[in-house]
Amino acid sequence: MSTKPQKIVIIGGGIIGLCIAYYAAKKGYEILVLERSKPDHQGCSFGNAGLIVPSHIVPLAAPGAIAKGLRWLINPESPFYIKPSLSWNLIRWMMRFWMHSNESHVRTCADLLAQLNLESRQLYNDLSADNEIGLKKRGLLMLCKTQQSLDEESATADLANKLGMQTEVCSSSRLKELDPSVEMDVCGGVWFKQDCHLHPHRLMEALRKRILENGGSIRYGADVRKFEYANAAISRAILADGEAIEGDHFALAGGSWSNQLSRTIGLNLPLQAGKGYSLTLSEPPQLPTFSSILVEAKVAVTPMGPSLRFSGTMEVGAADTRINPRRIQGIIKSASSYLPQFHHEDFRNVTPWAGLRPCSPDGLPYVGRSPRFRNLAIATGHAMMGLSLGPITGKLVADLITGDGHPDVRLSPCRFKPAFLINVSICSRSLK
Ligand SMILES: Cc1cc2nc3c(=O)[nH]c(=O)nc-3n(C[C@H](O)[C@H](O)[C@H](O)COP(=O)(O)OP(=O)(O)OC[C@H]3O[C@@H](n4cnc5c(N)ncnc54)[C@H](O)[C@@H]3O)c2cc1C
Repeated sequence: MSTKPQKIVIIGGGIIGLCIAYYAAKKGYEILVLERSKPDHQGCSFGNAGLIVPSHIVPLAAPGAIAKGLRWLINPESPFYIKPSLSWNLIRWMMRFWMHSNESHVRTCADLLAQLNLESRQLYNDLSADNEIGLKKRGLLMLCKTQQSLDEESATADLANKLGMQTEVCSSSRLKELDPSVEMDVCGGVWFKQDCHLHPHRLMEALRKRILENGGSIRYGADVRKFEYANAAISRAILADGEAIEGDHFALAGGSWSNQLSRTIGLNLPLQAGKGYSLTLSEPPQLPTFSSILVEAKVAVTPMGPSLRFSGTMEVGAADTRINPRRIQGIIKSASSYLPQFHHEDFRNVTPWAGLRPCSPDGLPYVGRSPRFRNLAIATGHAMMGLSLGPITGKLVADLITGDGHPDVRLSPCRFKPAFLINVSICSRSLK
């Protein structure tokens, strides 16, 4: 006798929602992704820098982050900005950010982020069959203009080495040797050898294809406005036009908008949108073979086939994806300062893209089961690492929902019992 597979409804068709859908569909569950925008919408998961970053073991909330943020506040071209507002949500988010900006938090996060990112990197191998996603495993160069930044990056490299990562501190001549075709005006850099890069748009297409091949469906233009529930379980997601979608399990992966929906069921996820921009040059004057981050400017540079993408800026508290020309200027100036062969004119016909990162105040994502509804999983708040952590998040959440399979990642530093491990961020932040 055949039994009907259980149905999992996933809200959000960004990288996180699609990864959950892909790993759950592979297990034979009935999958429906509800995405409110149209199929051609290029949200946060498309225009990003495409970096897979085991090197990013230091969360945004780290010592010195607040002081740096305040210094940058008055510079309209700066890479970091907090939109002044009397919003209670933003004030509360900032207080939590400030509380986590310390050494002990960095130590707790470092091991966890390294493990998650390395596991995710491993899963990308499987996703990159035929190299349809443009995965390149050359590492990431952190390019520094000043000795002080190079010392700081070297200290991060020391910490990363202790967590099993391979790094090399490079002089400017060593950088030239690594990528002879590119002129760089830097004092040195650190090569994080396990980092990778890929083409985000191609990744999203590949995931969509695989979900459909595994029997799942993605419905666009489906705007979920609320949930219906009874007996501590969600029964239906209600769309803007009143249509009710039934499911056995639900996963909320709505990126920066997750909190709007979670609030309707009394769950407050401290989350702010962090706007960032990217500029993709189809005919760059030089094409680096390595991806890099221009450290002081906080700009990522990623080769994507024949194109080159520059990405940067974090505007916390952004309400929309409107382009701020001053921040775009900041990215272009940084590009030509580190890479002198790039000039303002090279960017003249490039249309800037903007996306909203879902940012939690402590730099760790929310991944786990809702404390109130037994059939609701939550996966959001990945900030600058959503692409990097997409596959491991998808796999963990699929395992959590289906209850079959143990998470491969040991989140040991957080000292929770194995059964609760992947609820770690939710448990540790005691959501209300
Ligand atoms: C400039 C820039 C560079 C970046 N570079 C990198 C990088 O190199 N590496 C990296 O790892 N990360 C990077 N990121 C971060 C990464 O892009 C994000 O963390 C990631 O895209 C977030 O994915 P998500 O699925 O959570 O959210 P999203 O991609 O925003 O997807 C959420 C989806 O949910 C939908 N949705 C929301 N609410 C509802 C609802 N009620 N009903 C139906 N649908 C709904 C939205 O329409 C949206 O499509 C970068 C981001 C930016 C802006």
